[in-house]
Amino acid sequence: MAFFFITRKLKDRTEPNTTMFILQYTAVIVVLASGIAIVTFDQLVTTNITPFLLSCIVTGAVFLIRPLISFIVYLISYLAYYYLIALTIIDQQVLLSNQINGITAVGIAFLLSIITWHYNYTNIIQKRRIEIQQKQLERMAYYDSLTDLPNRRLLDKVIKEEMSSMKHNGHEAVIIILDIDNFKNINDTYGHLVGDIILRQMAGFLKSNVRETDTVSRFGGEEFIILMPETSLEEGYAFAERLRKLIMEKRFIVGSITLQITASFGVSLLTDTNSQNLKDCYIFADKALYVAKKGGKNRVETVEGIKVF
Ligand code: GH3
Ligand code: MG
Ligand code: MG
Repeated sequence: MAFFFITRKLKDRTEPNTTMFILQYTAVIVVLASGIAIVTFDQLVTTNITPFLLSCIVTGAVFLIRPLISFIVYLISYLAYYYLIALTIIDQQVLLSNQINGITAVGIAFLLSIITWHYNYTNIIQKRRIEIQQKQLERMAYYDSLTDLPNRRLLDKVIKEEMSSMKHNGHEAVIIILDIDNFKNINDTYGHLVGDIILRQMAGFLKSNVRETDTVSRFGGEEFIILMPETSLEEGYAFAERLRKLIMEKRFIVGSITLQITASFGVSLLTDTNSQNLKDCYIFADKALYVAKKGGKNRVETVEGIKVF
């Protein structure tokens, strides 16, 4: 019974587990050996093979055994049964009859074992497939397929979380909007595919230059947003300025093409808008970006002092 309850858990397993594996085969051997032993001793009183039949049915119906292994297990069990009952049964006709009945017992067990295996195996495979598909769907819903960065939907979620943690710990957080300058020219001159590669390289570059706690997301087109928790406006501005210089100094290489790229930045504090409309969070940074573009691009701007809410 103990084995039964412990190994029931096997039905829910998604990954093979060594402990359960050992436990299961120990249980199979113990149950079958008990059946054979009881039958052998039973013969000294009266001829009866029911315990062996029962142990076969239990192992076949309860335990998950691979078909090939179960074939070997039942073959060995049958051989043990075959020779052991011969030790206690004197009547040759009864012995032969019991030995033949033993074939039926292991036959039923083998069949049950295959059905159990097939049923559970299909279940496990289906479970795994669904899990993989769910992960893929989640990835598609929250990540940008071109750059593999979090998309706007995920950023909104992260911002909501950040806002509630800001309420608790009183820290400030910074939003940086970064827009590549004259990106349309790159597409027009070198083609959309080169543009795509540049966007991917930019995504990788940004990710490698932020802290682990920061979130880099693709806001759309050639615009990226960096969320920096526990950061003051001054720190955010300094970081954006450092990033601006790094981008300017970097050479983006696509095949034989080497490109120098600049970007404009809008920096603002993340404001708790108390509104459901998360667009409000980006307003200041977006305004600052507009100022940076107007001011000649390749620059960082903030909208310090403006508090609308
Ligand atoms: P500005 O300096 O004012 O930002 O000019 P810009 O040319 O960068 O900006 P504009 O908004 O005029 O053009 C953005 C371009 O980005 C146009 C669009 O084709 C391109 N773009 C948007 N998404 C993608 C994309 O996924 N791949 C590629 N290759 N280009 C994209
Ligand atoms: Mg642009
Ligand atoms: Mg743009």
